[in-house]
Amino acid sequence: VREGGGAPRAVVVTVGDELLLGRTVDGNAAWLGRELSDLGIPVLRRTTVGDEDGAIQRAVTDALGSADLVVMTGGLGPTRDDRTRDAVAALLGAPLHVDPELMRALEARFRARGYDRLPVTNITQAQVPEGATVLANPQGTAPGLALPRDGRWVVLLPGVPREMKAIFAGDLRLLIEKQFGERLRPVYHRTIHTTGIPESLLAERVEELLPADRGPVSLAYLPDLTGVDLRFTALDVETREEAEGWFDRLEQAVAPAVTPFRYRSESGDLVESLAKLLVDSGRKLAVAESCTGGLIAKRLTDRAGSSAYFAGGVVAYADHVKVAALSVQRATLAAHGAVSEAVALEMARGVAERLGADASLAVTGIAGPEGGTPEKPVGTVWYAARVGETAEARREVFGGDRAQVRERAAQAALALLLRRLESAG
Ligand code: ATP
Repeated sequence: VREGGGAPRAVVVTVGDELLLGRTVDGNAAWLGRELSDLGIPVLRRTTVGDEDGAIQRAVTDALGSADLVVMTGGLGPTRDDRTRDAVAALLGAPLHVDPELMRALEARFRARGYDRLPVTNITQAQVPEGATVLANPQGTAPGLALPRDGRWVVLLPGVPREMKAIFAGDLRLLIEKQFGERLRPVYHRTIHTTGIPESLLAERVEELLPADRGPVSLAYLPDLTGVDLRFTALDVETREEAEGWFDRLEQAVAPAVTPFRYRSESGDLVESLAKLLVDSGRKLAVAESCTGGLIAKRLTDRAGSSAYFAGGVVAYADHVKVAALSVQRATLAAHGAVSEAVALEMARGVAERLGADASLAVTGIAGPEGGTPEKPVGTVWYAARVGETAEARREVFGGDRAQVRERAAQAALALLLRRLESAG
């Protein structure tokens, strides 16, 4: 451990037999990795051990050999298999005593839930190792505990993710800032969301435009089913302004490659920017879905306040429903087949007229795994977006299994409508 200067380093130790058995996915370690590194505390290592004193103690001893901060989760509960508190207190030679204030708070919590006394097993949760700082748990009964050791800290957090996060965001963050304040170099990020362009192609175009001098900024491409995020990360900068300055410059440089595919969103969901455009232009959207089976309607209504821009939707799977509910012409179906430009356009028009909407989306395709033909292989999707009296349809052959084809088709249709609304002004 380097004394004094330099960024403090962390080791994360997660405790629990369930983690080793693979019954619980170690989301805590991933979350802590992200939060700690963003605060400017790189995580050197992650260790997972079972509910056993020896294993817990070896992990802590080992971690203290290289880290300034050891963050542990799990095993703080009231039952016999919750070993972390006892094991760490014994290792650090800190006897446990019952904290009267915690005891009162625990009793009050149980009374408020209608129990007349505190179960004896819960008393362990009021036990605090000598010299430890108690970190308030706004979400549950077991508080976090921070034990000092020669300028380093061992922090014990509950395993329940909601409780762990609440303690981290509250008292632990304050403790970290107090203990490591001037040594912290926070990491800054800016994310640009794109959809409709493959990662390799986006990277090719972006790299051509990026200046050779990127200062402290590194670049990552983060692809998933619905698009590719471009993330700038600034390490080792003095201030947020310095990071933002670099981000602005680089963002401007890559704009020609990115803008046609970009959408802005806090949550990462394109529906967020689509909703804003619909509301700003006072339009109501209706959707006609075949192979996406309501997925688009679901995504639109996942957001609170969706009634401001969403009129409704029709899931028209069978041809006769496309005819009866969306006014698609039998002749069109006979001439072009259900998965065709003409049918997508008629679905978009029909749903807008039938539901009294001034914007609409339609999707018709073959999600698979059955039903493909040489001309229309599995993954073939026609989708259309209509704004006012003008509409546009596109055909794509999406890769992946049934679920992926549906996700991709929904995203592509939403993106097409977003672009049309952008250009409609
Ligand atoms: P409590 O005080 O509520 O009993 P605890 O500190 O004893 O919490 P555990 O009993 O180890 O924590 O875990 C409680 C629950 O939290 C587990 O059932 C599991 O769902 C979740 N959990 C524990 N560890 C992790 C982890 N590393 N990542 C994600 N979830 C976890």
